[in-house]
Amino acid sequence: MLKKILSCKACAQCRICCVFDDSDIWEAPLISDETKENILKINPTQEFQTIGPSRIMKMEKGENGLYFCPMLGENGCLLGDEKPFDCKIWPFRVMEFCGMKVITLSPVCPELFKKPIGELMSLLEDGLAERIFEEAEKFPQMVKKYIPNYPILAVK
Ligand code: SF4
Ligand code: SF4
Repeated sequence: MLKKILSCKACAQCRICCVFDDSDIWEAPLISDETKENILKINPTQEFQTIGPSRIMKMEKGENGLYFCPMLGENGCLLGDEKPFDCKIWPFRVMEFCGMKVITLSPVCPELFKKPIGELMSLLEDGLAERIFEEAEKFPQMVKKYIPNYPILAVK
């Protein structure tokens, strides 16, 4: 979804958003039924943890205190274009701000955070914001609590 502005090469060298620590494990992608099936085709023994009506992949904490996404392979995400919606739109996040749903930009992504804001806004206004808000209606668990240093780029 972000291929227009995010190069696969940059992501292959970065991988920040596929590795978590205790402070950002809340960013672990939500797994839909369809994505779960795709994950199980790759690894039939993958376990999941439920979070309310949703689920995430079970991840073991490594000795370095980091949780590596089990779908992270040598050349990037093993799910390819079938990756979870949360991953398809990262570093855009849906958050709740003063009772409204907003789309924010995670400052963690080194590639998109340095892009001109106009470029990001054009992408959102070109249908992406609508698509993200639609998904957030279907899966309310993807709406996170607002974090103050996340710039707000769209409001529903
Ligand atoms: S943090 Fe940004 S640049 Fe890094 S892998 Fe994720 S989307 Fe790509
Ligand atoms: S599912 Fe793929 S894109 Fe998403 S966090 Fe895991 S490896 Fe990264």
